[in-house]
Order: sequence, then structure tokens, then C-alpha cells
Amino acid sequence: MSLNQSEWFTEAFQGKTAFSVRYSRKLYDSLSDFQRIEVFDTEPMGRILILGGCFMVTEKDSFVYHEMLVHPAMSALKEVRKVLIIGGGDGGAVTEVVKHPEVESLVLCEIDPLVIHACKDYFPSISAGLNDPRVTIVNDDGAAFVANFNNEFDLILVDSTDPVGPGQALFEISFYESIKRSLRHSGAAVFQTESPFFMEDVFSETVMNLKRVFGSQTALPYLATIPSYPGGLWSFTFCSETCSPILAAPDSLQKRLVQNLKYYSVDVHRGCFALPVFVQQLLKNSD
Ligand code: SAM
Repeated sequence: MSLNQSEWFTEAFQGKTAFSVRYSRKLYDSLSDFQRIEVFDTEPMGRILILGGCFMVTEKDSFVYHEMLVHPAMSALKEVRKVLIIGGGDGGAVTEVVKHPEVESLVLCEIDPLVIHACKDYFPSISAGLNDPRVTIVNDDGAAFVANFNNEFDLILVDSTDPVGPGQALFEISFYESIKRSLRHSGAAVFQTESPFFMEDVFSETVMNLKRVFGSQTALPYLATIPSYPGGLWSFTFCSETCSPILAAPDSLQKRLVQNLKYYSVDVHRGCFALPVFVQQLLKNSD
């Protein structure tokens, strides 16, 4: 069946595989200073946000990504008052963080204001947290912004695009070192670290670099399934010198758990750090 482009959106990944969704309407299409931004209405995945031709957000499955970027760390850390999110212009991670009443301030550093503008208009529930009074939005390169801080944040979340264009700066060792300097000693940083299926080299090199900066026992990858991302299986890496999410007791995780989540739970927390053999092999080969 050939896919008619006037009815299907297709993300061709590295020219080798593709993921397509049939759409009913294109709602937005604009070229910012950084990337092309498109929004489609689709029957199978609800509204979808496309940046630079890549799936970023869908109403169907982004709750998995946003809950898994945010809540393992929010549950494992003893106290989170000051948060920095780098990237994340769709507001989904912000919306998850502000569900925690103890958070006093959250800075979102998103390089492209047009992404925020489009997501406020077309993804009101995913981006709802952007209106929380604790949130400050900065439009800047996250690598430059975070270099200004020292011992400042309890939690830093890096919700970046792939390592291309402006996203490349968020995969450099110098950026990881800035993140580490900006964290309080009791804090943690979580990075989206790509697909262990289709981006094996990027995944293993990123985790190796994080281990180099944060320490080999303190950069811990974990996984979740996100159908709209290349390969479906996605990774995050939790980095902290003082907090181990794997050793966190179930009852302390339960105490810090916010209600009405749709993917993350204490059981998911305890399972997601268990890496399949092929992923462990990827990391062993990169050691
Ligand atoms: N969940 C998505 C993923 O895993 O690919 C990421 C979503 S979020 C929309 C990614 C955001 O990172 C984009 O809005 C992009 O503009 C932003 N971004 C890319 N490079 C950046 C940089 N150097 N500093 C700040 N934001 C950046």
C-alpha cells in the first residue's frame, strides 16, 4: 500500500526505517529560527507535534515519556525544591513536575519560543504546567544557560531533541560537566538518552560519557516503551552522586508518588532499571 502524503505523515529514520500515521488535518506548519514545527490531527494518536520531521509529542503516548522522565527521580530524591528543565518546550515534563507540591521553583530553558507557543495553542493539557506560577521560561541554549550556575538545583531534566542542530550541544561532555556543577550535592540529573535499538552508538556513547562525568556507578539507564519514537524502546539515564533510584525503598517511593499517573508506579520504578541482556551488552562493549 503506497502512503499518500496528503493523508499520511511519515518520519523516515536515517533513511532506513519509517513510522507513519494517517492524519485528518494539518493544524500548524511554521519554520522557526531553529526547526520546522508541524502539528497534525490524527485519528490513531490524537494530535502530534513534529519538529524537524521527527515525532516529538503525541496525545496517545507522550504520557509515558513525560512520566518516566520526571517521576523516577522525583520519587527517589528525598526533597526537590528547585528544578531546571532543558529543552522540553512542549511543557509535558513541566506539567508532571508541578504535580509535586513541594517544588518551589522550576526553570524551563527552551531554545525555541515558537515550540512553546505552538504547544500552548495545540496541546493545552500537555502544556498546562507552563502556566503554573512556579514556572519561569527562558529562551536560550541550554548548554550556555546551565554554565551560569553552581550547586543550584535539586533536579535537572534534559528533555532534548536528537543530537542534531541545536540538540548537539546537549550531548557534549562539557554540557554534562556544567550540569554536574549546577546540581546540589544531594541532587540528580536525568537525560533522555535515545533508542538502544536504533541508535545503539549514540545510546552507549552517551551513557559512557555520563558515567565518565558522574561516576560509573551513578549513571543508571532505564527504559520505557514509546511507540512513536524510532524503535519503540526508549532510554533515560539517571545521574546522581548521592541518590540511588535502585536502592530506594518501595515505601519511600510510594510516599512520594503523586496520584493519577497512567504509566509510572512503584512497580514500574523497580522494574525499569532492569536492563535486557542486549542493552547490558551494548554498555559493556562501550566500557
Ligand atoms: N521528548 C522529545 C524527545 O525525546 O525527542 C523532546 C521534546 S522537546 C520538544 C525537545 C526540545 O528541545 C525542542 O523544543 C527543542 O527546541 C529543544 N532544544 C533543542 N536543542 C536545545 C538547546 N541546545 N537548548 C535548549 N533547548 C533545546
